[in-house]
Amino acid sequence: MSEPTTVECPICHGSRWKSVEIDGVERVVRCDCWRASMVDGLLRDARIQPRYDRCDLATFEPDTDTRRNAYRKAMRFVDAFPVVDRGLLLRGPQGVGKTHLAVGILKEVIRTKGARGYFYETREFLRIIRDTYNRSVSETEMSVLSPVLNADLLVLDDLGAERTSEWVQETLGLVVNTRYNAKRPTVITSNLVDITDVTDPRSFTFQVGARTRSRLLEMCDWVEIPGFDRREIGTQPTAEEIARSWKSAASHSQEGAERGSKLPPKARGQARAQLRASRGDADLKWSGGKAGSR
Ligand SMILES: [Zn+2]
Repeated sequence: MSEPTTVECPICHGSRWKSVEIDGVERVVRCDCWRASMVDGLLRDARIQPRYDRCDLATFEPDTDTRRNAYRKAMRFVDAFPVVDRGLLLRGPQGVGKTHLAVGILKEVIRTKGARGYFYETREFLRIIRDTYNRSVSETEMSVLSPVLNADLLVLDDLGAERTSEWVQETLGLVVNTRYNAKRPTVITSNLVDITDVTDPRSFTFQVGARTRSRLLEMCDWVEIPGFDRREIGTQPTAEEIARSWKSAASHSQEGAERGSKLPPKARGQARAQLRASRGDADLKWSGGKAGSR
């Protein structure tokens, strides 16, 4: 890959080294621009898709108690990195900012700690590994797997979105176990739920297997970011808040139905009216306690 065209450094003129005098002796040390160029390279290699360009810890809005809590944990993780015992597992329905936080953490440890890290959507990661089998070259598999296993920080986004199988569980188990044994932290986002019913496709146990689930409990601090919490939304929600809650609740049908029914009665009529006003129609099928039911 060729270097991007940048203004040449006025100190080192591109050599990345500079002369300094230490105790009267002239020495050559890394120029200040070296670190910046290294960070640029690490960010380019991190596989963060352009659609997450604006996702930073600084642009995350900790506007509810649970989002504040998640944000604090993210900041603490970044500050302590790489001396961290556990990674983070950000759990909650779609649209609550899990991926934003995970991307923000990754960028920040690259920028401030010079860490080598990768962002992988779990489904995409499995597809890449699967594709290497078609070429039947185990070396290719390792060229993809090895960086993932050895990265200073790995982000696995949307765990559980893939169709599970024995192979999927084994592959994810390998990644999780190897990183656990090597004490390398992993940040995971997921909208799976931790329920004991192993036949429920939404459960961690069903998707990743019992062993990997308990490994994840050991190696990650589980951070809950619920999509809809009446304590956070208050009794005078704006149409926007309601619409967002409704959307995230709908993506999590059963949980959404339970949570939706907890909306204070006073807020229901008003919220419905605001929704109609904001959408210009009334076909959202939300009749108070039925949010998210089909
Ligand atoms: Zn320089």
